[in-house]
Amino acid sequence: MSAVWCTGAGVTAIGMRAENQDAYLSAGRVQVVADGMGGHVGGAAAAQAVVDAFRPLSGATNATPDHVADAVAQARRAVDEVSYREGGDAGSTLTGAIAVEHDGVPWWMVINVGDSRVYALEGGSLTQITVDHSHVQELVDAGRITPEQALDHPDRNLITRAIGDGMFGFDGWLVRARPGLRLIIASDGLMKVVSDARIGMIASLAGDGSTAAARLVAAAEEAGAPDNVTVVVADTLNAHTPTDASADPWRTWGDRDDDDTTVSGRVKAGV
Ligand code: MG
Repeated sequence: MSAVWCTGAGVTAIGMRAENQDAYLSAGRVQVVADGMGGHVGGAAAAQAVVDAFRPLSGATNATPDHVADAVAQARRAVDEVSYREGGDAGSTLTGAIAVEHDGVPWWMVINVGDSRVYALEGGSLTQITVDHSHVQELVDAGRITPEQALDHPDRNLITRAIGDGMFGFDGWLVRARPGLRLIIASDGLMKVVSDARIGMIASLAGDGSTAAARLVAAAEEAGAPDNVTVVVADTLNAHTPTDASADPWRTWGDRDDDDTTVSGRVKAGV
């Protein structure tokens, strides 16, 4: 399979911060965003190392979920090297979508570590695919605060997992690559100041992906952009449409660790 069934574009802005510690890669089959951890030595270098770990996949003739898992592992090694070199505690989020082939058909493999996000936009409706690894997400899950309260919570920037935290797990989903499906991949600098409803509206009306990415970043800047803001918009072109109508459009993809190279696909409610 070639990667001709997808296209993407990204934009990043520094916002009110002294340094841009976000990074992205939108090339070929790889559409990823990384947000280096603020206050950590080498945050910008860590984010860049994370996206660079996916660069070999961008032009690969073939890519499978296992290749994606390997790239996540490479990202972890690269961030560990940054920490060692900087003598600090570098870390980064990682989220995005990689065009893969699985069971003979094209899928987007969506991955996440941290609180950057991937949304699916289809038929004008926006769905958040990823689940934040954050303290406020845990409070929301426990029913202790509402999603709205999470936006203003004093611990809203506390993430519970990162590339560079020594843990191996990542969340993964396989999303059927169907024509017209648009993915919006963003660092928290977007979601903290632009509501999901506005993200969906802007991304629906923008036309091509590069315009959508630019308008979303501009919306964050108009709202003050207290943080770095990065948006990648990936569009699904003429992907092969599966004939098996009963196939699940969206599955979770099990965590993988060094000792267990098997991956389990658990069925989840479809988009
Ligand atoms: Mg951020």
